[in-house]
Amino acid sequence: MSAQIIDGKAIAAAIRSEIKQEVEAMKAQYSRVPGLAAVLVGERKDSQTYVRMKKKACAEVGISSFGHDAPADISQAELLTLVQDLNANPDVHGILVQLPLPDHIDEEAIVGAVSLEKDVDGFHPINIGRLSMKRRDPLFVPCTPKGCIELLDRTGVAIDGKRAVVLGRSNIVGLPVAMLLLHRNATLTICHSRTKNLPEVVREADILVAAVGRPEMVRGDWIKPGAVVIDVGVNAVDDPTREKGYRLVGDVAFDEAKDVAAAITPVPGGVGPMTIAMLLRNTLEGARRTLAGG
Ligand code: NAP
Repeated sequence: MSAQIIDGKAIAAAIRSEIKQEVEAMKAQYSRVPGLAAVLVGERKDSQTYVRMKKKACAEVGISSFGHDAPADISQAELLTLVQDLNANPDVHGILVQLPLPDHIDEEAIVGAVSLEKDVDGFHPINIGRLSMKRRDPLFVPCTPKGCIELLDRTGVAIDGKRAVVLGRSNIVGLPVAMLLLHRNATLTICHSRTKNLPEVVREADILVAAVGRPEMVRGDWIKPGAVVIDVGVNAVDDPTREKGYRLVGDVAFDEAKDVAAAITPVPGGVGPMTIAMLLRNTLEGARRTLAGG
């Protein structure tokens, strides 16, 4: 048996086209479109690429994007002022501070300064706190975890009552995706670097979400036959046959797992495209809430 390949690229494209239509409807109703401010500090190549991709995706669906590129030596106070100005700007419905920030900046203070109503990354401690509590809906859910659940939903995978195992407990992926699965009534196990008998625990999963950042760590014989595997990992491994000298692989050994699982996301082309689609959706939701309220 070979697993169904969950095509994140196609699902994300469908979501973007839905968002485009919703933005057009908003424009017709309010003569306004959603606006996303992207704050980039310094000149990290990967961060520049992510911000460029996000701005391009905004343009494609009709969302305005405002780039704010700050030098790497910007002071904490100047960066805070920039965030506060964006909080006050009525054309901005979402603020994205591209992480990581330089070492001299207190990341927690900057993320915490973003207005709750514009926290489209969903990283504000109050949004994360609400996500972790029962019946306390956050205003925004972090994009990659939200994308994982959307992939399950759009593939028709039932979550209620299933055994879910999340590999990884980071603030940006593991922890929030675990909370989302719990709210959807999965019976949940969270694994991390201190977990004993990891393969045995992973083998209990009807739904496995892997977010560890270790290339192909999860082998085929760790997977329960018929499980659904969402592979968040993006890892570059040397590959002299490729022009760039490397290729991207997930946290799961795809070729082994696809013979055991019922469905699996590829890397690339699985969770990755969903992250940006969910950022667009969060920005649209933020704009809708603001326009409906004021
Ligand atoms: P992270 O902050 O480094 O967290 C990794 C987690 O994995 C930690 O909880 C760690 O445990 C656990 N871990 C590490 N080694 C382990 C091992 N040998 N056995 C069991 N658990 C282990 O990483 P992250 O930011 O969550 O990202 C995870 C992966 O997802 C990366 O490959 C990243 O590139 C990718 N990612 C993809 C997207 C996307 O859009 N597709 C978005 C974000 C991240 P401890 O807590 O005990 O240290």
